[in-house]
Amino acid sequence: MDEPKARNEHLDLVLEAAGFDLWENDLLEGRVVRPVSKVFSELGYSPDEVVTTIDDILSIVHPDDLGALRLALDAHVNGSAARYQAEFRIRAKSGQWVWYANYGKIVDRTGTSPGRRLVGVSINVDERKRREREIERLNARLVEQNAVLQELATSDAMTGVANRRRLLELGEAELQRARRLGHALALLILDIDDFKQVNDAWGHLNGDHVIRRVASICAQNVRASVDVVGRLGGEEFAIVLPEISGESAVALAERLRGNIAAQQVELDGGASVTRTVSIGVASLTGGCGTFVHLLALADRALYAAKHCGKNCVRAAG
Ligand code: GH3
Ligand code: MG
Ligand code: MG
Repeated sequence: MDEPKARNEHLDLVLEAAGFDLWENDLLEGRVVRPVSKVFSELGYSPDEVVTTIDDILSIVHPDDLGALRLALDAHVNGSAARYQAEFRIRAKSGQWVWYANYGKIVDRTGTSPGRRLVGVSINVDERKRREREIERLNARLVEQNAVLQELATSDAMTGVANRRRLLELGEAELQRARRLGHALALLILDIDDFKQVNDAWGHLNGDHVIRRVASICAQNVRASVDVVGRLGGEEFAIVLPEISGESAVALAERLRGNIAAQQVELDGGASVTRTVSIGVASLTGGCGTFVHLLALADRALYAAKHCGKNCVRAAG
């Protein structure tokens, strides 16, 4: 066997073993000089369905992959990439999309000329790409589920506001931030007045309903994404108010108290009930080093409000 023939056979064997399909394009004329053979038969096209131009090939490339393919080709033609390398889907005769990787190089580049002979190989990477996409899909689901878990772990299941743990965490962070920057911070603690009577007269489920309504009135009356409403437990809530002075917090507490007292809560069986709240207000002062300390001050003010006959607001200090 003469040497060139032996070399060709050797090359064919190597390509076959590696699963590569050789091709050559004329970039100046946009012509396919040597089309891939294995790829087209793999995709279900018969030999008489001839591909003669680069545009013929691009017409069966997935539209979402065309941009990246053209960029990769341009980068090699203009010399910024040492070789052409792209992954894209090609439409099979059946209409199904199959992933391929292309690796190529211009072989007759001289001086500043971009050259015209682009020679390369194609390889079927469908299985790997599908696996990668499946992993991406699973990862996206995991991120979603983590967000749900995070939400469940930090919010109060019955009312949807922050749970006690979350409230303490955010409150401490806000307090430290306010101290560092020398900004204002206020805290309200609300407790529903004579709530036991609701449970006793209308049952526990109706009681839950009243608690939920008070939580939602609190949430509606504060700044979304700035103030933090949390359930401390039972029928008791706290609201962290960054950048709010004690005076403004008392005004907000008064408004909240009025809104809650004016609310008719419909119960099962057609009856309705109104409830009032007592509110204790505390604000950040020089001596307040922790959020727990601020909570204790607000709680003392709440106690004073209960002792003043309930349905009122009292400020600490
Ligand atoms: P006060 O005006 O002094 O606050 O009187 P109160 O009756 O509201 O006071 P207390 O704190 O003694 O009672 C709160 C009641 O809230 C006792 C408890 O059974 C009830 N409670 C606590 N958590 C829940 C809950 O999740 N759902 C319902 N329906 N009731 C609850
Ligand atoms: Mg109460
Ligand atoms: Mg209570």
